Amino acid sequence: MPDIVLTYTDAARAVRKEVERVLRHKPAVEQVPLLAAFHRVLAEPILADRDQPPFPRSTRDGFACRAADIDGAKPLQIVGQLKAGDVWKGVPLAAGEAIEIMTGAPVPTGADCVVMVEHIKTNEDTLLVDSDRIVEPGENIVPAGAEAKSGSVIVSAGTRLAASHIAAAAACGYAIVPVYVRPRVAILATGDELVPVDHTPLTHQIRNSNSYSLAAQTKLTGAQPVILPVATDDKPEIESAIRSASGCDLLLLSGGVSMGKYDFVEQALMSLGAEFLFTGAKIQPGRPVVFGKLPQQYFFGLPGNPVSTMVTFLLFPQPLIAAFSGETHPGLRFMLARLAHDHRVKPGLTRFLPARVDFNIAAPQAAIISWQGSGDLASTAGANGFVVIPSDAEKLAAGDCVSVLLV
Ligand code: AMP
Ligand code: MG
Repeated sequence: MPDIVLTYTDAARAVRKEVERVLRHKPAVEQVPLLAAFHRVLAEPILADRDQPPFPRSTRDGFACRAADIDGAKPLQIVGQLKAGDVWKGVPLAAGEAIEIMTGAPVPTGADCVVMVEHIKTNEDTLLVDSDRIVEPGENIVPAGAEAKSGSVIVSAGTRLAASHIAAAAACGYAIVPVYVRPRVAILATGDELVPVDHTPLTHQIRNSNSYSLAAQTKLTGAQPVILPVATDDKPEIESAIRSASGCDLLLLSGGVSMGKYDFVEQALMSLGAEFLFTGAKIQPGRPVVFGKLPQQYFFGLPGNPVSTMVTFLLFPQPLIAAFSGETHPGLRFMLARLAHDHRVKPGLTRFLPARVDFNIAAPQAAIISWQGSGDLASTAGANGFVVIPSDAEKLAAGDCVSVLLV
């Protein structure tokens, strides 16, 4: 069995190299209704189908007029009214005239500014602008095409579509959106002790939670999980389960990658022609994590301890799955926070420790949760991130700036 144990940085780099490779091939494209495109990856750019705004748009409720005519002492003549959805059918605005206008209405030709309703006084069909008000030409008007020219790219291909992108697509008339077909990720949990979630386990048995955490994380990454039946710690059984995943883009295995006598995952992969890119990483949790290529797909052997499984998913398979989804910039999500307390560790491993981050303050604070190690799902359920402890750190103090891996 190859023994390739890398530092976190080198392991991440090994995955990144394969991410670059995957990004060179675009996935198949399908057309979906606008709202079904939410959180999918855009396959062709969204283009402006006309200038935006299509007309000079008033950004305020007020009066459209000529800036040069404004004189605190001389009233302007109100000659009409325009609301959003109206179009000015009269002659261009002449000197000394003003038109009452609402937010979103097209500014009539002849006018070059909109004075907010808060800054004028009306008297029947005339108005006076407050004498302390200086109004510049262009004020409160967005010129036609200032936001985007017709034909320009509003959302680039390869973007995972957020609500703002769905809004932009709607504004440009995309009732149907071209998106990449979601990759299929096979999930194979291994272990003699595992029983299904709806079974009552005997004292020595464990419910299979990893298939579910991995399926949920896979969905969140924008791929389709394919949960395979659990394999026992039996090499031929694991081999045949791996073969059954051959139609998927990627295979995630959980359990059976440590040094135990019944850890057969690597041997099974090996006999199916696997090339190993690493067989361990100097991290906690997740040290036995395995990454490589089978003739038909990439695979990750994730350690079975439930927290290790989730953390290693975030660190390694996640960016590769995102790349298979066609996302142009797949990556991990980190944030900076202040440590809420002192913390001591043994150097040598890059650690990702479950933490509760308080985001609701200007300088986010992270408190590491006390836990029983990487099998402790109960304590980790209270975490919303993992504080990154660099491999050379021994002592961190309250207030130190730390990186937090977001879930
Ligand atoms: P392993 O990586 O196979 O040595 O397993 C490490 C620990 O994780 C053991 O305590 C297993 O019982 C537990 N474990 C393995 N697979 C799963 C799973 N699918 N769901 C929950 N716990 C698991
Ligand atoms: Mg096991």
